[in-house]
Amino acid sequence: MPTVRPQPFRGNANQGGNKVSDPVERARKGYRNSWSRYQVDLRKQVVWEQPFRNEASVAIIGGGLSGLCCALELAKQGMRSTVFDTGQHSCGGRLATRNTKDGSIRKSFLQDEAYSMSGLYFDHGAQYFSASDSRFVSLVNEWLAEGVIKEWVGPVGTLMPGGSFQSSTSSKGARYVAVQGMRSLAQHLEHQLSKQYSNLVQVRRPMWVGKMESIDNQGWRLMGEGKSLGIYDAVVIAHNGKCANRLMGPTGAPLVAQQLMGLRLSATWALMVAFDSPLPVKFEGATVVGSNVLSWVANNTAKLDLKHAPSSISCWTMTSTNEYAQANKVPQEAVPSEVQDKITSEMLDAFAAAIGVKRADIPKPIFYQCQLWGAALPLNTPSVECIFDAQSRVGVAGDWCSGSNMQAAAISGISLAGRIAALRGRGGSDVQDLSLGLTSPFTQLMPQKRHVTAHMQNHRS
Ligand SMILES: Cc1cc2nc3c(=O)[nH]c(=O)nc-3n(C[C@H](O)[C@H](O)[C@H](O)COP(=O)(O)OP(=O)(O)OC[C@H]3O[C@@H](n4cnc5c(N)ncnc54)[C@H](O)[C@@H]3O)c2cc1C
Repeated sequence: MPTVRPQPFRGNANQGGNKVSDPVERARKGYRNSWSRYQVDLRKQVVWEQPFRNEASVAIIGGGLSGLCCALELAKQGMRSTVFDTGQHSCGGRLATRNTKDGSIRKSFLQDEAYSMSGLYFDHGAQYFSASDSRFVSLVNEWLAEGVIKEWVGPVGTLMPGGSFQSSTSSKGARYVAVQGMRSLAQHLEHQLSKQYSNLVQVRRPMWVGKMESIDNQGWRLMGEGKSLGIYDAVVIAHNGKCANRLMGPTGAPLVAQQLMGLRLSATWALMVAFDSPLPVKFEGATVVGSNVLSWVANNTAKLDLKHAPSSISCWTMTSTNEYAQANKVPQEAVPSEVQDKITSEMLDAFAAAIGVKRADIPKPIFYQCQLWGAALPLNTPSVECIFDAQSRVGVAGDWCSGSNMQAAAISGISLAGRIAALRGRGGSDVQDLSLGLTSPFTQLMPQKRHVTAHMQNHRS
């Protein structure tokens, strides 16, 4: 059997207490997750006096589910938008899938022999979703009819300490997955926008928007990669975290900036690992209870009905607890191989413990790759569908506005699009009835307990 990397797993480098030899510590050197904090200046409020035009163009910064749904809804209401997203392979954000087909798995992590084993697929962001809001249900029904998504009917539940598995039904009804991995749902939406609404929607990626500024009597100018990306009548910020803070901080929508700065996010390591023989478990997905390291494990091969050669291969995704990720944070962009080894080893140790077997009873991985989500899931929320400052024409869409899952993200985009469309023909300060969430207080989505799992948190909203 091919092995992915010539080097064997290293043990837990934390053991022995030598901090300098810890690959996470070495990789983290000089890296601090410091949230930007700007003094919010309410006198810097921008108020656009001229009526919002029918032909207005909206910039949507972020092509995750919320941004794509916002563009779709704006288009349905006859409005123009441009979606900017950093994605190399497609839009999607945390609707993320890596596979051997499109080069999204780094070849350096695969030996040639393993690389020739096509069909390794890993959903390493969102795992599945449910629908209860009628607006999301109607989108879900369209995706079902188009064959983009399917129901995940395999055994999913909870792994209790000691290894017993308790099957559970989702409190929000059926569990859905995208048939080609979650990213394919974003690709479907991107395709729909560029085909069905090509006259109204433009998607520009990979594109990083770094700055926005108000230009008198014109609108918002976006800057990226050292040049102007155009002037827009309204701006939707459909991403979160430090970049959103930086983008908004000094500009003319101070209450929006204030809300963005109130958000707190968890981190998660996602381990993508393939085994050459089946694991000794009977479930396809499980929330892990009582582990300080693991929060969720899922068998992508079973979930997506993947066909491998040889057929004994299975592709798994394992996500860590927030606590473990916080303790093992490194710059996300290029995780050194020794950090990959350490995280993989520790997560597999935790997996063996969670299913109640010895580590030696778990088959040797033929492939593994870890990704750190530094901004994985919201920990608090203003509990509004979206945030919108109708005077400055700046809005925010994202899961965190009302929860931490895909439904919350989609509804946020749809809801914000409705408010922007309703602004047509209006301007000045007499538009406050359309503003939303500018001063809504945040409440915690979930207590930050030691064993809090990213996945459990998803389904509480
Ligand atoms: C590990 C993990 C597991 C999860 N599991 C589930 C689950 O099982 N079920 C569920 O319902 N939800 C789950 N979620 C949550 C779900 O993925 C999110 O709720 C949803 O995808 C959020 O969509 P969004 O549009 O709000 O944000 P995002 O998906 O984060 O999209 C933001 C986009 O903006 C782009 N961007 C950022 N900055 C810029 C910039 N300056 N310029 C241009 N583009 C920019 C980013 O590249 C990204 O594409 C999970 C998330 C994670 C991380």
